[in-house]
Amino acid sequence: MTGQLKPRTRAVHAGTRRSQYGEVSEAIFLTQGFVYETAEAAEARFVEAGPDEFIYARYGNPTVAMFEERMAALEGAEDAFATASGMAAVSGALMSLLKAGDHVVSARALFGSCLYVLEEVLTRFGVEVTFVDGTDLEAWAAAIRDDTAAVFFESISNPTLQVVDIDAVSKLARDKGAKVLVDNVFATPVWSKALAQGADVVIYSTTKHIDGQGRALGGVILGTQEFIRKTVEPYMKHTGGSMSPFTAWVMLKGLETLDLRVRAQTSNATAIAAALAGHEKIARVIYPGSDHHPQHALVARQMGQGGTVLSIDLNGGKDAAFRFLNGIEVGVISNNLGDAKTIMTHPATTTHQRLPQDQKDALGISDGLVRISVGIEDETDLVADILRALERV
Ligand SMILES: *Cc1c(COP(=O)(O)O)cnc(C)c1O
Repeated sequence: MTGQLKPRTRAVHAGTRRSQYGEVSEAIFLTQGFVYETAEAAEARFVEAGPDEFIYARYGNPTVAMFEERMAALEGAEDAFATASGMAAVSGALMSLLKAGDHVVSARALFGSCLYVLEEVLTRFGVEVTFVDGTDLEAWAAAIRDDTAAVFFESISNPTLQVVDIDAVSKLARDKGAKVLVDNVFATPVWSKALAQGADVVIYSTTKHIDGQGRALGGVILGTQEFIRKTVEPYMKHTGGSMSPFTAWVMLKGLETLDLRVRAQTSNATAIAAALAGHEKIARVIYPGSDHHPQHALVARQMGQGGTVLSIDLNGGKDAAFRFLNGIEVGVISNNLGDAKTIMTHPATTTHQRLPQDQKDALGISDGLVRISVGIEDETDLVADILRALERV
């Protein structure tokens, strides 16, 4: 039935499994293993486990299964595998799919740990990786070869919020028989249509909007049943990156309010971007939902909305950025995103500190750049807080 329901309804109800007690809130099955009635039943389950039969929590657990089913229903995927963190999902999807000799094309603007997995880990196991400017379709077309096994990109890059055209890159990859893996964190499941636009595999760090309240690390890989159960599951269950039942419960509760939070955050982000446009102390406001974003038409087509994160580039470099951050009273200085609380980050000295200067320059990570992950607080308080902090710059 959940197939006909709208995403917001699916995010509240899909995948629910009630015990004999009929509990309203999803039960947390804090158990590592399961008891078999007989030796024959144990043997049969190891041959093939049914949908409500579990063996060991690293392989699967009822609370985790509820979260996986709800995520798959929300994203419109056949199946999902939940992981211990977003990076367990990114590395698990890539490592389970690829083998020595394979070729991968990836966007260059990546979350630091994603870059490490592609540049340092995969290459160590004989995978060849070509990096391209994710916004340059000609570069993708030139880099994807007949023997390319996969392409990987973040649909919106961090922290400069460049958008990759999922539809166009997927077509180029399909032509060469390469799988398309999309890290979709900034798009959120609320604004994403990545699978419909041609992605084969969608990955989320559920640490971000899905928990959205700063409580737990988690991740999820979504794709066809064949890919999730035959490729991802054997790798994940034997290498140990599965999600814990308690985390799955936190994420299930997060999904119930995901749509409300992301809509409120997006509306606040839109208001902040509008209030800051043309501000004398800011060289550049980057918000995918704004008319001034260079890829505004693509954003409208791909997501319909600009999402929950904006970046501002302050005149006056690091000094100005630090004075601004230290003047903020409602938001907090931290490095998570997608949270109910407004979070401010200075990428050049924190999340992207280790990048050499030439790479920072190439990615547009200037000393004045501040990333603002907009929360669900009252819009007028947030705008006033930011304008007040700018006065102190
Ligand atoms: C945070 C993040 C990750 C990693 O997720 P964790 O849950 O921190 O492991 C991967 N990709 C992107 C785009 C992210 O923002």
